[in-house]
Amino acid sequence: MYALDAPHFTNPIAARRMMETIRWPHGPVCPRCGEAERRYATKKEGRWRCGNPDCAGDYTVTTGTVMESTHIGLHKWLMAFYMLSSSKKGSSSHQLHRTLGVTYKSAWFLSHRVREAMKSIGLAEPLGGEGRIVEADETYHGKVETPKPRSRGRIPKPTKKGRSGPADKRPILALVERHGRVRTFHVAAADKATVSKIVGENIARDSRLHTDESNLYPTIGKEFAAHETVKHSAGEYVRGDVHTNSAEGFFSIFKRGMRGIYQHCAEKHLHRYLAEYDFRYNHRVRLGIDDMERTIAAVRGAEGKRLTYRQPRSTEFPA
Ligand SMILES: [Zn+2]
Repeated sequence: MYALDAPHFTNPIAARRMMETIRWPHGPVCPRCGEAERRYATKKEGRWRCGNPDCAGDYTVTTGTVMESTHIGLHKWLMAFYMLSSSKKGSSSHQLHRTLGVTYKSAWFLSHRVREAMKSIGLAEPLGGEGRIVEADETYHGKVETPKPRSRGRIPKPTKKGRSGPADKRPILALVERHGRVRTFHVAAADKATVSKIVGENIARDSRLHTDESNLYPTIGKEFAAHETVKHSAGEYVRGDVHTNSAEGFFSIFKRGMRGIYQHCAEKHLHRYLAEYDFRYNHRVRLGIDDMERTIAAVRGAEGKRLTYRQPRSTEFPA
């Protein structure tokens, strides 16, 4: 971490100006009607009145973002964006609470809203493409809140690594482009129908699909330029350029982070944490993105989320 004493991290006005530059590089735009030319300054600095007579609404840089109606200083928001963007495994609400000097409850809301901003939206284009490799792999993390009832005497199937059955765990599917982006999914069950649907919808058909020998993939695998597998059960992890090491690497960062920082993640919030890890992976240093650029990308993502996504509610606190 560096430059934590920079004005935008210590002064709410400097933070607001920075956010305005990020959101409005060509000057303020009304988030309600899109009016970019006509506006009036109000008595309150940073608050504009739309000059479109049909709209005439007031707005600030936080209107229509995850920060709308906030009572927390924008320098603290910016610091929260920075802390969650810059450390490899994330930052706990306790850490934010101590560093920002806000209550634990505020820190919790702040961090979930930053995660909301990090979530990718809309119809993302498929991963991979001609000549590219996409790895698909599943893992199990944490415990489900309401385990499925089992018929008496049935022994749960062990996970890939031989641990107790996946029936009580939360399955996560990751699709990872070799040297590229990741997309993860917390699924109700890692069964063939679910996995085939996600793989089919998210990977370009002219990609090479790499998986382990799991029986989840052969059917959907036929739809791709190639489906190549490594046989983990036989101790085979790499054959030529065929492997699932990128997916395993992603899972390993995720699991170490979740264990070390987010020990008490409720199942209903798991997708939010996944979005956070996806975001950092997709803006990682190896792709040429530094801490501040990653922070700015997250702040940009804050826009348009206010109305699109259900926000964490006070009844969900604490997680
Ligand atoms: Zn307007």
